[in-house]
Amino acid sequence: MSISKPNILLIYTGGTIGMVKDVETGALHAFNFNNLLKQIPELKLLDCKIETVSFDSPIDSSNMNPEHWIQIADIIESNYNSFDGFVVLHGSDTMSYTASALSFMLENLAKPVVFTGAQLPIGDLRTDAKENLITSIQIASLYNDKNKPIIREVCLYFEYKLYRGNRTTKINAEHFQAFKSLNYPCLAESGVHLKINHQYLLKPKLNTRLKVHRVLDTNIALIKLFPGMNEAYLNSVLHTANLKAVILETYGSGNCTTDKWFVDALKNAISNGVHVVNVTQCVGGGVNMGQYETSSHLKKIGVISGKDMTTESAIAKLMYLLGASYSKEDLKNRFETSLRGEIA
Ligand code: ASP
Repeated sequence: MSISKPNILLIYTGGTIGMVKDVETGALHAFNFNNLLKQIPELKLLDCKIETVSFDSPIDSSNMNPEHWIQIADIIESNYNSFDGFVVLHGSDTMSYTASALSFMLENLAKPVVFTGAQLPIGDLRTDAKENLITSIQIASLYNDKNKPIIREVCLYFEYKLYRGNRTTKINAEHFQAFKSLNYPCLAESGVHLKINHQYLLKPKLNTRLKVHRVLDTNIALIKLFPGMNEAYLNSVLHTANLKAVILETYGSGNCTTDKWFVDALKNAISNGVHVVNVTQCVGGGVNMGQYETSSHLKKIGVISGKDMTTESAIAKLMYLLGASYSKEDLKNRFETSLRGEIA
């Protein structure tokens, strides 16, 4: 395929970027994707060909679930050979979860998949949607002098910054700068020039076939620790039917109470075959089990370290690894190893 003019597929899933205000109620609801393109005539000025595909019923990203992730992966797979890059328009609320999930589902990805959205609808006077969309398309169109795509991973572009998707978290419901990637530098920055930080990009092999993983096991739970958590609550979660894995969002560098009832409950769960993962509830930094006495007991009972992974990424990675039915040891090893640049 000649990439003199790259072919970009815009995948519209929903979210504020394509919403309008109901004049009666003031509530935002999704509108026809064709209208989105009409809103941005500037798209015609871009040096690429753009085709669009939309979810039949675009959704607020709060309604996203693994079925939708599979739908996005299917669209990318069935168009993989005909397009040079993919831009996924998605609500910002759960964008980091979807971007993380897609990073695991698309093994051997060698083309750009850029997620973007907006805090204000495209029709709003002060919208951030246009810049986010236009620059995302430009990024997805970047090719090097050997005609190879520069970005070969799942990313998220928002408010002048391109991040690795599985390193991001939505940190602000108000500011245009809604996302952060505190444990990994941004991949590119848009100013007067588009500055690519080549040293931070994933460099996967180019000629390996894209493999899409569709089996995602959702039998997991997330427990955010808080002082005063009671035993009955912990036990009720740990005794959830069919539970296969639990993510503990611990304090600081992976610390939690040393109370006997707490450690015993986790120990029991682990001996019953439940995988227990430790991620920090801090937005930056990571888990280092053994640094304090309040985390060495977790290491001893076989808790898996999420190191510097985001909770979003840990959830997606667990669903993906559980879906592949690895043995206990294999799952632990894979979880603690970087598969798509998601962990140090
Ligand atoms: N609630 C919206 C969504 O996530 C917010 C947004 O689009 O940014 O779909």
